[in-house]
This record gives sequence, C-alpha cells and structure tokens, in this order.
Amino acid sequence: MLTPPAYLSPSSIGTYRDCPQKFKFSRIDGLKEPPTWATHLGTFVHDVLEHLYQLEPDERTSDVLRTLAGDRWKAGDWESAVEALDKKQGEIKDFKIQAFNCMQNLWRLEDPQHVDLMGMEHEVNVAVEGVQLRGFIDRFLIDDTGAVVIGDYKTGKVPNPRFTSEDTKFFQLLTYALMLRESDQEETSRVELLYLKDGVRHDVTVTPVKLAIAQGTIVETKEAIDAACDRGEFECNVTKLCDWCFFKPQCPAHQ
Ligand code: SF4
Repeated sequence: MLTPPAYLSPSSIGTYRDCPQKFKFSRIDGLKEPPTWATHLGTFVHDVLEHLYQLEPDERTSDVLRTLAGDRWKAGDWESAVEALDKKQGEIKDFKIQAFNCMQNLWRLEDPQHVDLMGMEHEVNVAVEGVQLRGFIDRFLIDDTGAVVIGDYKTGKVPNPRFTSEDTKFFQLLTYALMLRESDQEETSRVELLYLKDGVRHDVTVTPVKLAIAQGTIVETKEAIDAACDRGEFECNVTKLCDWCFFKPQCPAHQ
C-alpha cells in the first residue's frame, strides 16, 4: 500500500492520465526529471514576460523587452543553466534566438501596453469536490463584464488536433477556473492558451458543462490514484511517447 500525494496539480493529473506509472515515478517515488531545453525555454520566457508586465504600461515596448531579457538572463545565470544542457538542440545563441522570438511574438497576440493583468504566477491551493489541488496560474485579467480571463503562456508547438482533444488541451485552465471559483469566488468567462512560438491564441468560453467535465475528470483521477496506491500497482501506458520518457530505463514495461 502506497501513500497518495497530499495534493495534486492540474499537470500531475494530466501525467496520471497519460501514464499512471510515470505519475508514480514523479509524484509517489519523488524522482525528479532533469531540466531540458524545452523546460528552460519555458521558464526563462515566463520570467521575462512576468517582469515585462510588472513595468508601467508605457514602458512595455520591444526595446525595453530586449534590455529586460538581458537583465533576467544575467540575474538567473541562464548562461550556466543552458550551457549544462545536452547540445543536441543547439548552442546558447540558438536558445537566445528561440526565447526572444517567443517573447516578441507576444506583440502578435496583444499590445502589452493595453493589457492590464490582475494576477501573475498566482498560487492557488484549494480543495475542489474534496480533492486538494495546488498550482500557479500564469496570468489572469478581468474582462469588460467583470469576469476573469485565465491565460497560460506556451513556448512549445501548437498540439496536433489529431492527437490532442479540446478537453485535454484546456483541462489545466478549466481546472484553474474551478480552483479560482473555490478560493476567490471568482467566475471565469474565458480561458486562453498563448502559443508564443507560433504567435497564435487558442481560447474557449467557459461554460457550466465544460467545468463539470473538468471537475468529473479531477474526481475520477483522484479515485483512480487512490485505488492504485491501495493496490500498490500503477499501470504502464506504453506508447511511442515512451521514447521521450526520462523514466524509460527504469520502467517495468521496458525491462
Ligand atoms: S516509459 Fe512509457 S510506460 Fe514507462 S513510465 Fe514512461 S511513459 Fe510510462
């Protein structure tokens, strides 16, 4: 019998649904995946954009972004962090170009001087239908009707609709909408994914049906995790994606 984690995050629920064994490695056994080019790219871009939106609106220009990116690069010692990565994906200059392109694409999605964010990297820790959840919301703002719009920056490619359903794509943000409703009594009208690499926005109107589906997924996943812990058995979901899984060398399905 294993002990379930004290809380779940929207991304860990996604991990369990992708592969229960992978969830066990990370959330039950506590094994850490090392940073990758993609995770460093996402963290660096998020950090710069968070600082950009902390500036006064008229300071949020493309020139200021360039200076800010340089400052944040030094403050986070990103030179050493990227230098330590496997060079398969490129050199430091490639990383900087990719990161800066993502940041500049923000202007294809919105004019930062006219966006008033109410929260960034907002921590939410709350129970939804008895399931303790914790996570950080990238950003949210208030629309003209007084309702919340939750946004999430993505630095990877837009997922192929053949392999990722709309419910899966927006699950994390709909979970944040449920969490905000529980913690701050805020109703969310829309959730949006800001794909910075491609400079496109995917959004969806939040409806009671969509929230009910997300809530059902949360409860069903928590029950499945508890049952797997009771049995001490987590299923391996073997797919082509196993070739990109850090845990493959120790995965029982690949021995
Ligand atoms: S290698 Fe495949 S089956 Fe094993 S943990 Fe990773 S994703 Fe799951």
